[in-house]
Amino acid sequence: MKKVAFIGLGVMGYPMAGHLVKAGYEVTVYNRTTAKAEQWAKEFNAHFALTPKDASKGADVVFACVGNDDDVCQVTFGSDGILAGLKPGAIFVDHTTASAELAEKLAKAAQQQGNDFIDAPVSGGQAGAENGQLTIMCGGHESTFEQVKPVMNAYAKFSQLMGVVGKGQVAKMANQICIAGLVQGLSEALNFAQRAGLDADKLVETISKGAAGSWQMENRYKTMYAGEYEFGFAVDWMRKDLAIAFKEAQKYDAKLPMTHMVDGFYQQVQQNGGNRWDTSSLISLLKTK
Ligand code: NAP
Repeated sequence: MKKVAFIGLGVMGYPMAGHLVKAGYEVTVYNRTTAKAEQWAKEFNAHFALTPKDASKGADVVFACVGNDDDVCQVTFGSDGILAGLKPGAIFVDHTTASAELAEKLAKAAQQQGNDFIDAPVSGGQAGAENGQLTIMCGGHESTFEQVKPVMNAYAKFSQLMGVVGKGQVAKMANQICIAGLVQGLSEALNFAQRAGLDADKLVETISKGAAGSWQMENRYKTMYAGEYEFGFAVDWMRKDLAIAFKEAQKYDAKLPMTHMVDGFYQQVQQNGGNRWDTSSLISLLKTK
C-alpha cells in the first residue's frame, strides 16, 4: 500500500490528502476545480490529475470526499470516473457523508470489476481533518478494512468497522441525530443563562465537568454567545445529512421527533441566510427579542 489517490479537495479532503503525503504515501489528487488541485500539488509537492480516472490509475487505494450522493456518482461512474481507473484488486474508500443505498451500489459496482469498497464517513470537522484527528465509521469486509486502516491512520485518531457495507453511513446518521438534539439543548441552555445574567465562562467551566458536558459545549459556547457563525460545519450539510437519516429511519420505523423539530429550526436558519453558517447557529433563532 504505497500509491494512493484522493478525489475531492474541499474543506475536509484538502488537509486529509496532505496528511497522506506527510505519512509517506505517493499521492495523486483530483479536484473538479483544477486550480485547487494545482495549489494542493504545489503545497505538498505531489501530483494532480485532470480526471478521477487518471488520478486512480495504478493506485492501491482511492479515497473520495465530495458533497452528496449525486456528487459521488459523478466522480465514480462514466468513462472518466474512479471505477474506470481502478487497477485489479485496488480498494475504493468513500469518505463522503452519503446514503447507505449508495454505499451498496458502489460496493456492487466495484466488486463486479474485481475491486473492493468501504464506506467511511468521518466525524471531527475541519479541525479534525487539519489536525489528523478524525473519527471514521466504516462499512465493508473486515479484511479490506484492515488493509485500509493503517493508511487512514494518517488523518484518523480512531476508526471502527461498524458492519457490512452501508453500516458506516448508518453510524454517521446516528452521529448527526445526536448532534442535532444536542446543539438545540445547548442553544436553549446558553440563551437561558445569558438572559439570566450568568457568567458564560464560569458556567461552562462548571457544568462541562458534569453530566451536561459535550464537545459542542466546550468548542462552541464562546462563538454561540458572541453570535459568530461564519465557520465550521455548514447548516446546508447538516440538512443534507438529516434528510438521509430520515429516509433510513423509515426502514426501521425509528421515530425521530426531536430531530425533525431541529431540522425545522435549521430550515429557518437557512431562510435567515445561514446556509453556510456552523450548526451552532441554532442559537441565532433564540436571540431575537
Ligand atoms: P466542501 O468544502 O464543500 O468540498 C466539496 C468537495 O467536493 C470539493 O472538492 C468539490 O469540488 C467536490 N465536489 C462537489 N461536487 C462535486 C461534483 N459533482 N463533482 C466533482 N467534485 C465535486 O465539503 P467538505 O466540507 O469538504 O465536505 C465533504 C464531505 O464530508 C461532505 O459529504 C460532508 O457532509 C462531509 N463532512 C464534512 C465535515 C465538515 O466539517 N466540513 C465534517 C464531517 C463530514 P470543487 O472544489 O470543484 O467545488
